[in-house]
Amino acid sequence: MRRILWFRRDLRIEDNPILSLGGEVLPIFIFDTHILEKLSHADARVSFIFEAAQRLKKSLQAIGLDLAIFYGRPVEVFAYLLKMGFDEVVASGDYDAYAKERDLEISRLIEFRYKYSTYLFKPNEILKDDGSPYVVYKPYYTKARKVLESQLAPSLVAEHNLVACEFDSIIRVDGKSVSHADISLESIGFVQSDKGRFSDPHEMLESFIEKIEGYHEGRDYLNQDATSRLSVHIRFGTIGVREIVRRVLALKQQKDVEPYIRELIFRDYYAYLLFHFPRLACENFKGHFNGVANEEYFQAFCTAQTGFPIIDAAVTQLLSTGTMHNRARMFCASFFTKHLLLPWQWGERFFAAHLLDYDAASNILSWQWSASTGVDAQPYFRVFNPYTQGEKFDKEALYIKKYLPKLKDIEAKRLHNEEYLRQGLIADYPKPIVSHKEARLEAIEAFKIG
Ligand SMILES: Cc1cc2nc3c(=O)[nH]c(=O)nc-3n(C[C@H](O)[C@H](O)[C@H](O)COP(=O)(O)OP(=O)(O)OC[C@H]3O[C@@H](n4cnc5c(N)ncnc54)[C@H](O)[C@@H]3O)c2cc1C
Repeated sequence: MRRILWFRRDLRIEDNPILSLGGEVLPIFIFDTHILEKLSHADARVSFIFEAAQRLKKSLQAIGLDLAIFYGRPVEVFAYLLKMGFDEVVASGDYDAYAKERDLEISRLIEFRYKYSTYLFKPNEILKDDGSPYVVYKPYYTKARKVLESQLAPSLVAEHNLVACEFDSIIRVDGKSVSHADISLESIGFVQSDKGRFSDPHEMLESFIEKIEGYHEGRDYLNQDATSRLSVHIRFGTIGVREIVRRVLALKQQKDVEPYIRELIFRDYYAYLLFHFPRLACENFKGHFNGVANEEYFQAFCTAQTGFPIIDAAVTQLLSTGTMHNRARMFCASFFTKHLLLPWQWGERFFAAHLLDYDAASNILSWQWSASTGVDAQPYFRVFNPYTQGEKFDKEALYIKKYLPKLKDIEAKRLHNEEYLRQGLIADYPKPIVSHKEARLEAIEAFKIG
């Protein structure tokens, strides 16, 4: 049996089940031009993936294998590879719309097998007793939690039983033409971005574990470094989510690790919902209100010029670092869809363009949750007050001042005070573009009428 092992969102050898089969194998990674051609040449995610692919290649070489790196459309790469007589392709599951369509196309050319490791559970594993998917998180979590510990056996690379296929690495496949070329970021049209540099995920996990007991209390505070910051590594599988869970659960007798485990299961839940309800990618799950197309508000939001310091600071964090604190993502998405009444799809696309940890399921479902249109979403009449969010989670305005240094000399309480901000006394900074009270009432009315 000759197999192609296709690495996508699992750029690691540790705990990777695609290495658990025997036989002759060709591990590959494809820089997919369908995805790359939509990105800016400085996209930090490409830098991150590029380095991760180089590291994966070295790790595979250390166990007697290698990684063939391609640049092209997957279907063309496979058409080229199939001439070399492979029997099967093995890959980790991926369920967003493009991934499903791409995998289906490849499965028409060659036997395609999923070895699940992107998520904790297979998409049909956690179902109600009647076989339908859960649409409320709590019972999903209760069931998922019971199954979790029974299936965390590691897949050990050290025991692998694989033989490398002969192959010339690094191939550019473009239509019918195939060329061998040394790959570099520049050669595929990108430049190095420092935003895409992260520490080793295992070191990050160990330092998070040191402070995991403060996670539940601290995770909402914008200035407390209480979260794991592992989302980018989880997104690209440079650390396996099962490995994280196994490591964290080993501490459960000594520490309260459940709040963190709950978030990881949440990530699975969102992928599961997108799998079962693919229309969620662009349509409301419930409610008929679709937002109001207002370019002026959209531009103000995307350029951090809303006059709401906490919102503008969060957007600046996103634009300058490629990340945004979870609490800030929540109040920004609420502000965008409720105060500005903009379509959630616009906000989703804006985040997708800038988040290093961008994950279709987590992003789409979170936006729908905030817009009160999603599965188990927040009620439409719940509208976060950006001023009280700022007061509560950034009392001293340290987060605001970090990302908007032009506000550094203004007293913190003024930066959370609508009356003060509406006077427009801050040089070079706009007045709030909407009144909180009026915008809130307007949003409730718009969502009620639908
Ligand atoms: C509007 C909006 C958009 C979002 N878009 C994304 C996205 O594109 N990609 C993404 O990975 N997360 C997204 N999230 C979820 C969350 O904000 C990030 O996962 C989190 O901020 C990453 O930081 P961390 O690794 O320190 O998280 P931690 O608090 O350490 O959480 C651990 C892990 O659990 C997962 N997780 C945590 N919170 C959530 C959540 N609410 N939903 C789903 N998974 C979660 C992540 O994989 C995360 O790494 C979004 C949230 C909102 C409100």
